[in-house]
Amino acid sequence: MQDFNLPIKQTDVLVMGAGGAGMRAAIAAAEKGARVVIAAKDLFGHSGCTPVAKGGYGGMRGPGDDWKLHFEDTVRGGGGINNQKLVEVMAKQARERLLELEEWGAAFDRDKDGSIYLRKFGGHSAPRSCISGDVTGREMIWALKRKCWGNKLIEVADETYISQLLVNDGKITGAVGVQLQTGEIVAYECPVVILANGGSGRLWPITFATKGKCGDGLRLAYEAGAELVDMEFFQIHPTGWKWTPAVIGRVISEGVRADGGQLLNKNMERFMWKYDPDRLELACRDYVSRCIYKEVKEGRGTEHGGVWLSITHLSPEHIERKLAAFMATGMVAGLDVRKQAIEIFPEHHYQNGGVKIDEYARTTVRGLYAAGEAAGGVHGGNRLGTNSLADLLVFGKISGEDGAEYAKNVERSKIIKDQLEDEVKAIRSPLGTDSGVSPYALSKKLHDVMWEEMHIERSEKGLNRCLEITAEVVEQFKNISIPGTSLYLNDAWTTAMEVRSRMIVGEIMTRASLYRTESRAALFRSDYPHVNRKEWDKNVIVKKENGQMKIETTPVIVTIWPTEKIDLPKFPVPGEEHEPGARVFCEIEEGEY
Ligand SMILES: Cc1cc2nc3c(=O)[nH]c(=O)nc-3n(C[C@H](O)[C@H](O)[C@H](O)COP(=O)(O)OP(=O)(O)OC[C@H]3O[C@@H](n4cnc5c(N)ncnc54)[C@H](O)[C@@H]3O)c2cc1C
Repeated sequence: MQDFNLPIKQTDVLVMGAGGAGMRAAIAAAEKGARVVIAAKDLFGHSGCTPVAKGGYGGMRGPGDDWKLHFEDTVRGGGGINNQKLVEVMAKQARERLLELEEWGAAFDRDKDGSIYLRKFGGHSAPRSCISGDVTGREMIWALKRKCWGNKLIEVADETYISQLLVNDGKITGAVGVQLQTGEIVAYECPVVILANGGSGRLWPITFATKGKCGDGLRLAYEAGAELVDMEFFQIHPTGWKWTPAVIGRVISEGVRADGGQLLNKNMERFMWKYDPDRLELACRDYVSRCIYKEVKEGRGTEHGGVWLSITHLSPEHIERKLAAFMATGMVAGLDVRKQAIEIFPEHHYQNGGVKIDEYARTTVRGLYAAGEAAGGVHGGNRLGTNSLADLLVFGKISGEDGAEYAKNVERSKIIKDQLEDEVKAIRSPLGTDSGVSPYALSKKLHDVMWEEMHIERSEKGLNRCLEITAEVVEQFKNISIPGTSLYLNDAWTTAMEVRSRMIVGEIMTRASLYRTESRAALFRSDYPHVNRKEWDKNVIVKKENGQMKIETTPVIVTIWPTEKIDLPKFPVPGEEHEPGARVFCEIEEGEY
């Protein structure tokens, strides 16, 4: 058994997560001369959601498009509560980051004239999504991975589970984790940690978010005293496979709807005509999800409780060439999407809120940065499709550069030994007992209640039930037990650590959902079914203060588009007639910003 005098590794920057945001941050920090360790729970290059992203990278411009239109679409799509400083940075820099990636070896589809092929995505008023077939994220990761390997200042620590941050006087001093391939506990002493751990999809049982994404970084940031923003908003993707059982939960890229996929109810009615005749299936994701939910709730769903998605009107050649991954999943399901419609239903997809950052990707704790899905503010209450890949490259780079600069100049503090000992105890405490509660039982309990009460439709009653069950799990966690004493590839231990994060992050999200008494963007409260602009054009902030969870509101950070002037769509409410509202677009004059 390892004692508390474990070796402490020195580095300048520790990046937690090796998806797109983490790799881009590591490259940027190393290019500034910092020594970087990039740690990931799973295998480098196969880690997180970035490699499975399919639909596209938003940010290239066709004729008539510019960053201001991208800005407007993103803010409107986010329910008007995005941090506009962050949106502006993303919209301005996304194009450059993509072209740079091409120089590093990523290939994006071209039109016949050699220009980058652009596709329109939900909520975007112009085609600006670039693709690499339907394996865009994988192409990006390969280019980033090669670039990381080529830099001697970057050390890869894959299969390393970071379980706690170490903080002294509001300043990062390092982090602790476990190397899963050896079972050793590792401590890093470093002035900078960049959280690039992605979101919290695995709080829900049905999601296509990759296994390790259970909000670890959100818990770590919260416990370190950082502020979290917009935690009541998570994205429900409209099109998850509902049938057959072999494929339930796999997500269907929005590219399928962008290429003409139609949604039909059991009466074969293309119902989006009722809700958004202009944008139809390419309305924002939150909106389409709620339309599907309303159709099913009002009895117009299919046999297995979904609606139909059909691309049978597209040519087989187009499907085989552009939607090959979708077709392949169909084959696994025993269905031929070229010839038959499939049943779909919305499922958990993306963490819209996250650790609050500024335009340098700094959090409210010194030396702690966040980028990619872990960070909040860019997407407000709902992210537009393709904006995540753009966001993670832009803020990955910014966080790495600023972090390296900070590490160079800051007076470094030592790790406090007591803090390290506490975490080593927390890591080891569940091991070697077999009389307590199984981590798998607690995991299931959390999954069940999150699916039942913290999903498309929420209410005060359901949210309170969610809090009660989460509190029970917190209590039972004290008695969690795992047979065996080794940390070596110990799945039960990993599950226990993930429950540790999920119960805290679940509580934060539930409390934030209770706090916002309206429905907006990705949040639908059946007890407050309408948007309340007067009360709630605000951000909800959660932080830990004196050991307690504190919730408050702050004004939205506005740079260009005054919040009251942003037109938001009217959502379809089950049981109410829906009148499609006219959309007013913000007009930003040249020189006004
Ligand atoms: C099926 C699917 C398709 C998608 N398609 C698109 C698309 O077309 N366009 C788009 O813009 N977005 C898309 N998204 C969303 C997008 O892929 C993600 O939001 C984005 O890739 C997140 O990137 P990231 O770098 O922030 O995190 P990720 O790529 O998810 O990486 C997270 C990293 O953190 C690590 N990690 C987590 N916890 C720990 C810990 N405790 N210790 C150490 N490491 C840890 C993981 O191992 C992983 O390396 C899609 C998502 C899915 C699931």
